[in-house]
Amino acid sequence: MSRVLIVGAGLTGSLCACLLRRELQSSVHITVWDKARGAGGRMSTSRPPDSVCQSADLGAQYISATAAYAQSHHSLYSELLSSGVLCPLDGLIEGLQQRDDVRDYVTPRGMSSLVKHFLSESGADLLLEHHVTGLYRRGASWEVHRKQGDSETFDAVVLTMPVPQILQLQGDVGEMLSVSQREQLDRVEYSSRFALALFFPPDVVFSFDWTARYVSDNSVIRYIAADSRKRHADSGGPSLVVHTSVQFGVDHLEQDKDDVQPIILQELHKLLPGLPQPISIKCQKWRYSQVITCVPDAPGHMTVLDRPLLVAAGDAFVHSNFDGCVESALSTLSVFKASL
Ligand SMILES: Cc1cc2nc3c(=O)[nH]c(=O)nc-3n(C[C@H](O)[C@H](O)[C@H](O)COP(=O)(O)OP(=O)(O)OC[C@H]3O[C@@H](n4cnc5c(N)ncnc54)[C@H](O)[C@@H]3O)c2cc1C
Repeated sequence: MSRVLIVGAGLTGSLCACLLRRELQSSVHITVWDKARGAGGRMSTSRPPDSVCQSADLGAQYISATAAYAQSHHSLYSELLSSGVLCPLDGLIEGLQQRDDVRDYVTPRGMSSLVKHFLSESGADLLLEHHVTGLYRRGASWEVHRKQGDSETFDAVVLTMPVPQILQLQGDVGEMLSVSQREQLDRVEYSSRFALALFFPPDVVFSFDWTARYVSDNSVIRYIAADSRKRHADSGGPSLVVHTSVQFGVDHLEQDKDDVQPIILQELHKLLPGLPQPISIKCQKWRYSQVITCVPDAPGHMTVLDRPLLVAAGDAFVHSNFDGCVESALSTLSVFKASL
């Protein structure tokens, strides 16, 4: 049995774990490590400190399936719809461009439930607060080092964190990359933005009728969602999510999020005067938000070394959404099938 480590419990990592389990069954022992305290990555769902409020999606908001992807990823969409992880979006989204061949879905239990579904299906050992700092080749294995100072050995490793974080790893990864692979990874670019989640008391009812709104005439705020309404969550206080514009994200990237939060709130109150007082607010800085420039020709993954196997995967190798991560996980699976 091969011991496989997947670094990152985001959508790509959870899909890799699930597909490897389904296709390779007992020939692999799968472990997933993530540096965060919860699974989800950029599909994270934030829970308020007070359980009387609904949760809020700080990163990804919808799953938008083109007709082509709805067909090619049909079995995954059916699985998610029949298990209630996905349901069709039916609220009013102001400013959303009409796309004839696209169907939008939401996650009634929050975006992280999508990732948790695949992790649970995979039966993988999930270890949170496991921050990988370096990878060292030791004969036919990888010795993987953690921030806490200890290390563990695996037969194969899949890295699913954003590309700049892969390039920051210590050890042998940098040396294993060919010149052209390094050039391709160096060219990958991400947008940056801030997200705010506001959690309100149960008696609050929003005075506007939209579920979400794209804002075009404000330099700070790009998107606002009545997150609980988007997901038909009717018990508990409502939640509101705000995404800043990419330009604002870039301009304030090196500032502390506690200093940026009041600027976003000030603009929010201009856009929504009379907004009630929230019980709590969470601010998230997405340094690596969505991929602007992906690896050329969107190959799905990059094999850094055949033996011991080391693969880099994630949305940067296709494009930044649900179907991009599915494509990346499928192409990673094909490497494992050929290798094992
Ligand atoms: C604001 C925003 C809005 C978006 N909107 C949409 C949308 O509406 N629809 C859509 O489909 N997509 C959307 N996306 C894109 C989507 O969220 C991503 O494409 C997808 O979540 C990427 O998943 P991933 O697993 O490849 O990477 P990630 O989700 O980034 O997962 C990587 C994981 O690796 C972990 N990690 C990083 N470094 C280490 C380390 N050294 N050791 C251990 N763990 C590590 C991280 O904690 C993270 O959990 C949005 C993203 C953002 C940020």
